[in-house]
Amino acid sequence: MSTTPFEKLITRNWGKPGSHTLDGYKKNGGYKALEKALEMGPAAIIDAVKKSNLRGRGGAGFPTGMKWSFVPRDSPKPKYLAVNGDESEPGTFKDRYILENDPHMMLEGIAIASYALDVHTCYVYLRGEFKKQAEILQKALDEAYQAGIFGKKLLGRDYPLDCYVVRGAGAYICGEETALLESLEGKKGWPRLKPPFPAVVGLFGCPTVVNNVETLASVPHVIERGAEWYAKLGPERSGGTRVVCLSGSVNRPGVYEIPLHVTVRELIESPQYGQGMPPGRKVKAVIPGGSSAPVLSGDEIDVALEFEALKNVQNMAGSGGVIVMDDQTCMVRALWRVARFYAEESCGQCTPCREGTAWQTRIIRAIEEGRGQPGDVEKLLNVVQAIAPYPPIGLGNTICALGDAAALPTHSFVTKFRAEFEAHIQEKRCPFGAGHHGWGHFGSGGFA
Ligand code: SF4
Repeated sequence: MSTTPFEKLITRNWGKPGSHTLDGYKKNGGYKALEKALEMGPAAIIDAVKKSNLRGRGGAGFPTGMKWSFVPRDSPKPKYLAVNGDESEPGTFKDRYILENDPHMMLEGIAIASYALDVHTCYVYLRGEFKKQAEILQKALDEAYQAGIFGKKLLGRDYPLDCYVVRGAGAYICGEETALLESLEGKKGWPRLKPPFPAVVGLFGCPTVVNNVETLASVPHVIERGAEWYAKLGPERSGGTRVVCLSGSVNRPGVYEIPLHVTVRELIESPQYGQGMPPGRKVKAVIPGGSSAPVLSGDEIDVALEFEALKNVQNMAGSGGVIVMDDQTCMVRALWRVARFYAEESCGQCTPCREGTAWQTRIIRAIEEGRGQPGDVEKLLNVVQAIAPYPPIGLGNTICALGDAAALPTHSFVTKFRAEFEAHIQEKRCPFGAGHHGWGHFGSGGFA
């Protein structure tokens, strides 16, 4: 358990005047961590990030310091940092607010990470739809160049550092790290087979670290306050705080920075966060980590929104998108929406994903529309098995994790709410009424 009192880190400047400007950021102590990092030197920075237990905030939760240490320091090739701002997971909408409200926090993290990794060129890859965020970020970057933070000299040091903002073209798959690199190289965003991993063979065949926006925005706090302090904010293997996105059937959906011991139930019910359900509604199910996470039933929500706690219940913290469904939600229709998204976004390289995502969508749609046949539930589970065998979670038959992401929700919706699927088939209609979705505010805006 955490031994350090909670305080907001990532969102601490949100709402303050000029929080998105260099002046505003500096007024609140910004770029002090970069000065400190330059005194520490690269090895000490990487060591601090390792000891801080900072884990990737984009979905996989991989330890950031460990990822950094995979970059071969003696490589004669240039090294790159690619920032993953292709936030498109349904239910996830935090990075866009980090970029809008406090872009310099991420830029400071980029500068520290680049210096630690011997990177002189980095790219911030933003979701294609993030026009507004790209403009705010570009303005912040221009200010940082003018102030001598980026450019020929990093804060006056003999260390050139360039950073470029790039917008994608609207494909969810470009949030997969190797597809993102392909897209940055000007190619179609198709995931690559791994290994080799990007840390060794990444952008233009050179060592590359790919980190999420929130992950990099966390780095200045690790350096400024120390690895030990940061690690103690969370439990044993997860340091710091977390920014989560609460959407669906709650009174106050939004983006909240939370200590890692907060449970799903507390997030929904607490006056600080979701403020409970609309009158008369009860929690039926919650997706705790973006639409690719398995669903939790209403009696499984006393679990902390933390990587290990969710892993222990065969779930995942994912991208921080918490989607709440109430007792009037049709689970078949909700799953249809999720399945449709993955069928649409599959890049089509691997047969199990390309065919499986389309097949499961067709079967779920037929069930929802009253055209389901006896045996369709089994057929659906067979399709899921062909994409990603269960158990255990996450051992897919596909090149990238999108196959798993499509299979995980289907497996959990069907196994936990099977009676609802069977009722649709028996009654040859949706028991909740045609056209009902019961989903409330979805939040991401990235949904078909
Ligand atoms: Fe493309 Fe799906 Fe294969 Fe990933 S799993 S490479 S999205 S077909």
